[in-house]
Amino acid sequence: MGLAPVLTKSLVSIGPQWRVMAPVKLAVAASVLAIGGAMPSGLVATMLLIAIVLDAAAPLIARLEAASSGTSAKVAAMGAGIVLPMGLFGAAMAVLAQSGPASVTNAAIEGVAVVVLLASIIEAGRLPGLLAAHCSLWAGVACAVSGLVGIIAVACGLPFAIFVFVRQLQIDRDEAERAAAAERIDSRAREILADYEETGQGWFWETDRRATVTYLSDPVAATVGASAEDLVGRPFASLFDLSARGADSERSLTFALTARSSFNELGVKAATADGEERWWSISGRPIYDEYKNFQGFRGSGTDLTEKRRSAEHASRLAHYDSLTGLSNRFLQSQSLEKILTAPQIHQRACSVLLLDLDRFKQVNDTLGHPAGDALLKQVAQRLERSTGKLGRVGRVGGDEFQVLLPGRIERVRLAQLAGQIIDALSQPYTIDGDRVVIGASIGIALAPDDGMTSEALIRNADLALYAAKDGGRGRYHFYAADLHSDAEERRQMEQDLRDAIASGGLELYYQPVIQTATERITGFEALLRWTHPVRGPISPAKFIPVAEDAGLIAPIGEWALRTACQDMARWPKEVRCAVNVSPLQFANPALPAIVTSALAQAQIAPDRLELEITESVFLNDSEGTDAMFKALKGVGVRLALDDFGTGYSSLGYLKKAPFDKIKIDQSFVRGATVPGSRNGAIIAAIVSLAEALGMETTAEGVETLDELDLVRMLGCSHVQGYIYERPLSSAKALARLETGLIAVADGPRAARAIRQSMLRKIVIDHDGEIFNATVRNISPTGALVEGLGNVPRDTVLRIQLARDRVCDATVRWVRGDLMGIEFARPLRFDEDGQIAPMPGRAQEPAHPAASMRRAG
Ligand code: C2E
Ligand code: CA
Ligand code: CA
Repeated sequence: MGLAPVLTKSLVSIGPQWRVMAPVKLAVAASVLAIGGAMPSGLVATMLLIAIVLDAAAPLIARLEAASSGTSAKVAAMGAGIVLPMGLFGAAMAVLAQSGPASVTNAAIEGVAVVVLLASIIEAGRLPGLLAAHCSLWAGVACAVSGLVGIIAVACGLPFAIFVFVRQLQIDRDEAERAAAAERIDSRAREILADYEETGQGWFWETDRRATVTYLSDPVAATVGASAEDLVGRPFASLFDLSARGADSERSLTFALTARSSFNELGVKAATADGEERWWSISGRPIYDEYKNFQGFRGSGTDLTEKRRSAEHASRLAHYDSLTGLSNRFLQSQSLEKILTAPQIHQRACSVLLLDLDRFKQVNDTLGHPAGDALLKQVAQRLERSTGKLGRVGRVGGDEFQVLLPGRIERVRLAQLAGQIIDALSQPYTIDGDRVVIGASIGIALAPDDGMTSEALIRNADLALYAAKDGGRGRYHFYAADLHSDAEERRQMEQDLRDAIASGGLELYYQPVIQTATERITGFEALLRWTHPVRGPISPAKFIPVAEDAGLIAPIGEWALRTACQDMARWPKEVRCAVNVSPLQFANPALPAIVTSALAQAQIAPDRLELEITESVFLNDSEGTDAMFKALKGVGVRLALDDFGTGYSSLGYLKKAPFDKIKIDQSFVRGATVPGSRNGAIIAAIVSLAEALGMETTAEGVETLDELDLVRMLGCSHVQGYIYERPLSSAKALARLETGLIAVADGPRAARAIRQSMLRKIVIDHDGEIFNATVRNISPTGALVEGLGNVPRDTVLRIQLARDRVCDATVRWVRGDLMGIEFARPLRFDEDGQIAPMPGRAQEPAHPAASMRRAG
């Protein structure tokens, strides 16, 4: 409805049908005159004519009234349109009524009644017009009937009529303004609503009591593939695919609709026409009329599609490894947690395979990260293929993977699977045309045997993995309880090593290196020594790897370099010193600066310092390695290749790397004198290779005169070993130098088992029974024991030789209270001829002190 008609209706006093008055008045007048049978007087005829003409002109006057805005113009219009024709008609009727017989009077009165009735009908809803019509008609009648009195009455009524008219005009105008304002608000709300719906952010809906649609925003109707009008009358629930996965349950919506209860933000999938995935969140509440009758539902909806998509994306990122597509550490541990907390105990069984790639870093460093990434992808594929449907594969770290196998699986089967995985991963890979070979180590832990919580299980699988790598890589290892003690021992050693560094508990010993041709000392090799406050001397072969793992090798290595240089400063100028450098130190770009500073501080010529490097440095990034060689050569130090032939064997690097010396590992020297050994041939080959490249050779670990003769004959330029000297403390090395540089070989002719005579009290444990006895003599393989009679042959005994020296042995012969026993594993003797601590703590009884007490 427009604004103009509202104003016209209330502000125009002359009703649109007013002109009907003209024929009616004409008919009434004609009837009255006909009944009287006389012609009207000139006055009456004039009054009637004017009245009828004005009535006929009513539409024109009404238009003028509508067009005028001033009150006086409106009053004038009403006067011309209503007051004058009604007044004149009333007066004319009154004159006619008085002039004729009773029948004329009656007809005139009936005529006036008809006109009054008609005026009331026409002017319905127009109070001023109605009043004006009534007043003016009766005023006309009154004036004609009673002359002056009538005029006075009209004069008195006129101001009242005008007041009422003006007042009504006011009311109408106010009313019209209020309506216009309300309409403006209404239409603004409608526009805002339409705009909002248009943006697609939200939409509205309404249903009737049978849950069929009565209103729906257009854009949402379009999504469902229909117009809003088409959807009206359709069940509200048919707009959604309520059985879709991920939707809030179908029941929630149907329940709310039937129970007439409100619902809030239900996630529903749209039943789209084109099958496109769209999600909505809908809310609604029941509506009631004023008599509390349920009318239906009204509510809103919003589009959830984008939100869902980004939530899904985020969840993918949070649960899956983006490179390989495997599940990540988080999802793996969630899955493990789920299994371990299953309601039924038998459902909680599972196995965890923890997998670490061997030599992955090397590929990454030499071929670059993109190649590393490509390799990881292929590894992931092979892993998934090997595992099949048995379990879930995840990537839990850079080159660490995890296979989670639910259910109880036999260890034999697990071992088989681990073996297959290692085989599969160890097959060559082709990456950008490069052939790459890596390996894998696997640690295995089973629930519930090896742990009931995910932390325990993962930790134990980790320990098993560590043991697998320690055992030489490319292997798998099941978790076993004693791995904990190994790990604990390592952790303890690491702590003690830190203390030793801080308190100056490390020492450098020096072992002379003798030139074969002259039998003179040309230098020393600096060797670390650590005497543990409780455990006694610990071999560097044992604590250096711990230091490397714990990041302690840098400070230890730097200390060794500086200390060796300081000590060397007190030696004759022609005596060199070799210092061992860990591959980790070698990978540190600061090494040349550290070396330079150590030399400068001790004021040593650079060529007196020899750095011993093992082949493993070539496993790392070749560019960095070349640069390091260059830098060290630039400093002027000598370089020796340590433990040659024991590691990564490729002769290629020998040509490139500027070594001054090759150290032939003790494993080649040992046994070279045994008839049939090929070690001699290998040494000869190494020597000729070194000579061709202009390098010296040192034979390491020469212990017997026979070995010395052999390495001399094979052409080794230098010899280092117990046959000349054991490593000496710094003071002893200095004292040794003061006696001159000539060295004299001193030792056994040939290697044989050392048999030491001794009298040592020992404790023997046989199936928990404790006995005391005495050792009469001992060798690495067996001992002569006195003090026990009647022990059957082949009895297995546990023998405690000293506090931390326990071993198993079998009785081989018995004569009186003497017996010969054979050790399960050969004993090791340290450099002073003392029995070395037994490797592996598992051999020790739980409480040696307690055993001793029982023996005593
Ligand atoms: P290596 O560099 O091969 O050192 C030679 C090892 O052989 C030394 O053992 C030495 O005592 C031993 N040895 C020498 N002559 C004989 C012999 O005639 N018979 C036998 N059986 N052994 C002999 P040590 O001192 O226990 O050192 C073991 C390893 O620890 C060294 O092997 C070296 O790899 C490492 N190491 C020692 N000191 C350092 C150091 O300061 N820094 C680094 N990074 N490693 C070190
Ligand atoms: Ca060495
Ligand atoms: Ca060596």
